Amino acid sequence: MPQNTRRIIGLDVDGVLLDFVGHTVQTMRARGFTMREPEEYKGWSLQSAMPPEQAVILPALWRAPGWCSWMPALPGAVAFVRDLRCWGEVVFVTSPMPDAPHWHHERTRALSGLFGAHAGEVIFTHRKDLVSCDVLIDDKIEHVNDWSMRHARRGAILFETPHNVLDRAGKVLHPLALAVSGYSAVLDEMERP
Ligand SMILES: [Mg+2]
Repeated sequence: MPQNTRRIIGLDVDGVLLDFVGHTVQTMRARGFTMREPEEYKGWSLQSAMPPEQAVILPALWRAPGWCSWMPALPGAVAFVRDLRCWGEVVFVTSPMPDAPHWHHERTRALSGLFGAHAGEVIFTHRKDLVSCDVLIDDKIEHVNDWSMRHARRGAILFETPHNVLDRAGKVLHPLALAVSGYSAVLDEMERP
């Protein structure tokens, strides 16, 4: 295995490691709603893709105690984090859920249980451009572009998923950023100097 270069790798959580959309769909189905398959939701806003009677439920559903705790890892995520740690120090950079008093605790505990994260390795912020990591991996193009503009160097990676396809329409990825699909492609990028 390669030597740890001690790069700081900022790693998004929702949509990159944990299945926010799939967990939402499963929870709604458990409440009796007919839902599309998770991969059919191709935009950032789940609410705009659902009929009003479903969309109105989501804010409270996401903020219910325990919901964040039980969000499952995406297939391969645990091995991906393990392999990524060979290339640097992984720090989990995740957006908070406003008005969700349990969210920070549940997310930190989940990251500990799934990936062995320490509390000091979890950063909650909507302003990911302010994180001075060497690499930022995120599935939201705004975060990737803002980070690239602030730091004016390579390092930001847009993680392509079925759920950010529509959000890229009409937007230009910052020329210093990369877009990759899949964990192995991210790991391939780590090998580049
Ligand atoms: Mg995300």
